[in-house]
Amino acid sequence: MSPQLPAGYTGAATDAVEANTRSRPTVLVVEDEAHIRELVCLHLGLEQLSCVEASAGDVALKLAREQRFDLVILDLMLPGLDGVTVCRAIRRDSQNTDVPILMLTARREESDKVVGLDSGADDYLSKPFGVRELMARVRALLRRAPGREPSAVSDTDRPVVYKHIEMDPARRKVLVSGRPVELTTNEFQMLHVLLTHAGIVFSRDALLSKVWKDEAFVTPRSVDTLVKRLRKKVESNPAEPSVILTVWGGGYKAADV
Ligand code: CA
Repeated sequence: MSPQLPAGYTGAATDAVEANTRSRPTVLVVEDEAHIRELVCLHLGLEQLSCVEASAGDVALKLAREQRFDLVILDLMLPGLDGVTVCRAIRRDSQNTDVPILMLTARREESDKVVGLDSGADDYLSKPFGVRELMARVRALLRRAPGREPSAVSDTDRPVVYKHIEMDPARRKVLVSGRPVELTTNEFQMLHVLLTHAGIVFSRDALLSKVWKDEAFVTPRSVDTLVKRLRKKVESNPAEPSVILTVWGGGYKAADV
């Protein structure tokens, strides 16, 4: 006698596979250097992310016009179209106008240029980069992605607990060792950027664009001044910071936790 399938059986195994595929965010990796592309995709795979590879700018733009991605990792110097052109085209006219874009650049000077050009990238990383830093930024960008991950709807409003500091962005409140501390809008924004990306180095230019956005008349010195004020408010000992660390020749970061 052959086994009978229960009535209403719809193939649970197939459903599970489909659900698994659906829940995997897909990353478009645009990089003409094969070994970097493969390394990035290997690590994305280890994080359960799907990877679509492109080795030229025009190919990447075609893909971005055809299908939705959860994140684009985009090299600056590419055959076909360069990264800035691709980035702008994705923002202007594609299925992915709101996709988070992480730009890879070869040198610090190139990073500065990219920020200066206001390419529309959300973040940038200079080569050579560490895989750990890349993946931390990938995770941060995926968390931040608007409406792309149901659990992350109000990620920027989520309370942040870091060492002796608690931040409540929704209420604009900060507790340092349990005591409320008043921060200006810029101080709050900088602390939030650093603490939500602990261990990641932000150049002064990156902090300028993240904290002051489009304001004119700010310089990298403004970043140093703000950090100094912030340390007085949040560090147990401002002379020996344990929260906001200076990275020699790089910028600032929140200490790894
Ligand atoms: Ca390249």
